[in-house]
Amino acid sequence: MPSLAEVLKQSEDFLKSKGIAAAKLDAELLLSYLFRCNRLSLRLRLHDSMEEHLLPQLQQLLFRRGNREPLQYIVGEVDFYGLSIIVDRNVLIPRHETEELIDIIISHFGNRPIGSILDLGTGSGAIGLALAKHFPKANILAVDASQNALSTAQKNAIGNEITNIRFMVSDWLEGIDGTFDMIISNPPYLTDEEFENAQDEIKKFEPKSALVSQNNGLADIFKIIGTAGRSLTKDGILILETNGSQHESIASFAKNYFGKFESMRDLNDKNRFVFLQNPRNLVS
Ligand code: GLN
Repeated sequence: MPSLAEVLKQSEDFLKSKGIAAAKLDAELLLSYLFRCNRLSLRLRLHDSMEEHLLPQLQQLLFRRGNREPLQYIVGEVDFYGLSIIVDRNVLIPRHETEELIDIIISHFGNRPIGSILDLGTGSGAIGLALAKHFPKANILAVDASQNALSTAQKNAIGNEITNIRFMVSDWLEGIDGTFDMIISNPPYLTDEEFENAQDEIKKFEPKSALVSQNNGLADIFKIIGTAGRSLTKDGILILETNGSQHESIASFAKNYFGKFESMRDLNDKNRFVFLQNPRNLVS
């Protein structure tokens, strides 16, 4: 049997031949997953011989990745803001920008008494769960139109032992009663064209309904902005992840619904997040 070092090299070469950019890293991660160990332990075992009975499983993992399935779906989980989040094809893989959003929120609101938070379109539950952990006194309601996504989110609450969150099926704010100090969402905001130009990992595997919105990617954002005011407390805030190129249109649309609009940049210095305050409570 070849050594693990040789198997690793062959795996890397295979992924490279399939055009996978981070072929070495992905090969290491797949082998670590196969052996249920971390990358450091894998490196310490590189002189061991490969166990023959594991070869078909490894091949299977490599074929999936070679077919452009995202590594996160293959290994089934991802780290998000220190939480271990299960992901499957019903939910979007949490992005780094969204972790940045959590960072911004904690640095802005960490000292304020936040009693209630509503996470719209929670998917894997990543945003709601990260906020639930960092605002342990707050009650979080996380909703999604997809029951399948909510089943995954629920598993993530249990897996991370987070209890100040509950889940409900709702199409944005449709079935929501009561008011919240913070409403947050990472809604679909890509245009059809952006989706068509996205890498295969996204296009072939992630739920399109979580990524693409009509009206140049703005339909869901506008729907939320138009209806969220009634579900916010007087000093409540609506926070959205968006594309920076949309901020002008969002600011102009939001004027009818909110007194205060603020754009926030991500680490790449691109406008990415929108903070809306002073709801006018207009009935849309
Ligand atoms: N930032 C995500 C992406 O590029 C889009 C997420 C979303 O539409 N909410 O793929």
